Amino acid sequence: MAFWNKKKEPDGLAASDLNQRASDTPKSAIVTDDKSWFTKVKSALSKTNDWLHTDIRDLLKTEGRIVDEVFLRDLYSLLVKTDMGTTTASKIRDRIGHDYRARKVHMPDILRVVSEEIRETMQDGQSDIKLAASGPTVILVVGVNGAGKTTSIAKLAYRFTQQGKRVILGAGDTFRAAAVAQLTVWANRIGCEILTAEQNSDPGAVAFRTAKKAVDDGFDICIIDTAGRLQTQVNLMQQLEKIRRVVAKQIDDAPHEVLLVLDATAGQNAISQARGFTGAAGCTGIILAKLDGSAKGGVVVPIQQEFGLPVKFIGVGESLSDLAEFQPEQFTKALLDL
Ligand code: GDP
Ligand code: MG
Repeated sequence: MAFWNKKKEPDGLAASDLNQRASDTPKSAIVTDDKSWFTKVKSALSKTNDWLHTDIRDLLKTEGRIVDEVFLRDLYSLLVKTDMGTTTASKIRDRIGHDYRARKVHMPDILRVVSEEIRETMQDGQSDIKLAASGPTVILVVGVNGAGKTTSIAKLAYRFTQQGKRVILGAGDTFRAAAVAQLTVWANRIGCEILTAEQNSDPGAVAFRTAKKAVDDGFDICIIDTAGRLQTQVNLMQQLEKIRRVVAKQIDDAPHEVLLVLDATAGQNAISQARGFTGAAGCTGIILAKLDGSAKGGVVVPIQQEFGLPVKFIGVGESLSDLAEFQPEQFTKALLDL
């Protein structure tokens, strides 16, 4: 079936806007490949693990290294470079120090300890989206500008559609016409419903109408896009609160998920964003986008540690199928290229 046959012009948009965004979302994006999840995640993490491996190898030399203070200091600083966080990096350093001091250590020994320590910090099996007991499940997607919200929404919608669920999107980023156009292009491509509004109209109203339509027309999943905002913009954070309220009025327990999209290439900055959002927006989970472009894939570790919020999905590319469920065991293996 054609993904384009539900084509619809969003309200109040110049055609050039739509064309502009259409060219940003390549047609090939609909083509899924059958690379396994693991291969995909592994190639997404290749920048991080190349870095880690090259550095550890340089540190150890081929014949291994005697563990002393200098070695432990150097090991610590290269672990920190992957943005795995100082807590985990110190734990790894201390364990290597304890187990191997004054003895020779080799690459597999280090990787084993790194893998065990990282694995220990990860939460298991929480990547599922919490579905409504009955009626539509409402998912609100939040984060700073450019983090990957709209793309992640498209990927989620595609995923649900593939599972046979009926999906409606609410174009709640009413700040920029291009944002509505971008989501519309995706919706048309996926073949799912979308509700749009005039530029600069109230995003709360868009959320309200989308949730209402989801109920009235029996949709399974309702995903609401929002404009990028900083955790410090009090009025915009209150606007999120309003969106939450209006959907709660329509549907019991809604929003069922508030997903915070973080940009993995931002490394430690992603952590300060998470700190601001989790409190103010009542986030229930994280989508870590752009892992494929990041050498800081280790950032998953402190995110899980600090916020107790599950990383539900990771973005591993720009195509619709490039959203992987976060699985700690495989992630650790992929991160360390084991
Ligand atoms: P938003 O402002 O948060 O809605 O961000 P967008 O969804 O518009 O994404 C910003 C840019 O990041 C776009 O060019 C996307 O194609 C790109 N992007 C989003 N997710 C990923 C990902 O997982 N991998 C890569 N490589 N690019 C991504
Ligand atoms: Mg967007």
